[in-house]
Amino acid sequence: MKAAVFEGNGRLVIKEVEKPILRNSTDALIKVSGTGICGTDLHILDVPPKHPAKPGVILGHEFTGEITELGKDVQGFAVGQHVLIDPHPGCGVCDECRRGFPDNCIPLYENSSAEGHPNTIGIFSDGAYSEYVIVPKQSLYKISQDVPVKIAALAEPLSCVVNASEKLKVQPSAFVVILGAGPIGLLFTMLMKANGASKIIVSEPSRFRRDAALSCGADIVLDPSAEDIQQVVRNEMGKGADYCIEAVGPLLPLAIHLARAGGKILQFGHDETANPEVPVGVLLKKELEIYGAFIGKHSFEKTVRIMESGKLPLEKIVSHVLPLSRIHEGLALLRKGEGLKIIITPERG
Ligand SMILES: [Zn+2]
Ligand SMILES: [Zn+2]
Repeated sequence: MKAAVFEGNGRLVIKEVEKPILRNSTDALIKVSGTGICGTDLHILDVPPKHPAKPGVILGHEFTGEITELGKDVQGFAVGQHVLIDPHPGCGVCDECRRGFPDNCIPLYENSSAEGHPNTIGIFSDGAYSEYVIVPKQSLYKISQDVPVKIAALAEPLSCVVNASEKLKVQPSAFVVILGAGPIGLLFTMLMKANGASKIIVSEPSRFRRDAALSCGADIVLDPSAEDIQQVVRNEMGKGADYCIEAVGPLLPLAIHLARAGGKILQFGHDETANPEVPVGVLLKKELEIYGAFIGKHSFEKTVRIMESGKLPLEKIVSHVLPLSRIHEGLALLRKGEGLKIIITPERG
C-alpha cells in the first residue's frame, strides 16, 4: 500500500509499504477513509522540529475509517462499522489513566521513543496517511455512516477543543477573544458561539482565515500585523475579555494583557520552542485563571454526538480534500495560510 513515511529532518516520503497484519487480539484493522493534516504535522516537519516524532513511522493521527478485521478480544464492534479513532487513548489501567489523564499514561510513556510524549498513533507509531492502520480497541468510537468522511476526519481536533472548552464554562454573557484562526481557532469560534458568547473577536494575520472566522461565528476579526489588538479589545469589550483563547503558541503574554480582571485564559497553541516571558505583575493583579489543554480525553463520545447532531457548521473548516499523492501540496497550502483543515484520502492500488 502507499503511505507517507516520516524520514526525519523535515522529510515526508510517499512510498510503497507492507499492508499491516493484525497480530494482537485486542486490535482492529481499519481501512482509512480520510485523514486530516494537523498543525502538529507541520511542526514535526519543521527543521528544527517544533514537535518530536519517531523517524520511520507513517504519519497521520486525525483519521476516520471502517473496520475491516477485528481481533477476537474486541467486543461491541463489527466489520464494516464506521469509526472515529482516538490516537492517544492510554492503556486505561495505569494510575494516570485512572486519574483521568490518559495523555500521561505511564506504559505509553515508557514505550515512547521520545522523552515526555505518549505513544500517539501517527506520531510515534504508524498512522493513517496510508490505506490501512492498526489501532487498539480502546481507540475505537462508533460513528454513523451518515456523517461525511471529511467531517468525521475532524474527530481528533474537535475532541481536543471539546476537552479544552469544558474548562472554561463559557456563559451567554461572555466576551471571548481567540488568538489564531487555524482549524483549532475556528473550532473554538464555533463552539464558543454555540455556548452563547455575546461577542467573539478573532485575531489572525491571514485574510483567508479571517474570512473563515467570520463564517464560523466571529463577530469581529482583525489583522494583528495591521491593527492594535489591545485597542480593538478595549473599544469592543471595555476592560478586556472574559475569556482569551491562545491558539497560536507563543502569545500567552498577550492573552494576559487582553483578559479583564478575573478572566480565564486557555493556552492551547502548541509550540515547544516558545518560552515567552510572562508579565507576572499583570497576571496576579488581575487574578487571572490560566488553563492548559492538550489532547481530547474522555471527549470522543461528546464529539460523536456533536457530529451526528449536525449542530456545528464543521464543513466550513475543511478547505480541501486531496489524494495522498498531493499531500505535499496540502502541507504547502497550510504553510502559506491558504488552507484550513485539509483532508487526505488514501490511494488504493
Ligand atoms: Zn492533530
Ligand atoms: Zn495508562
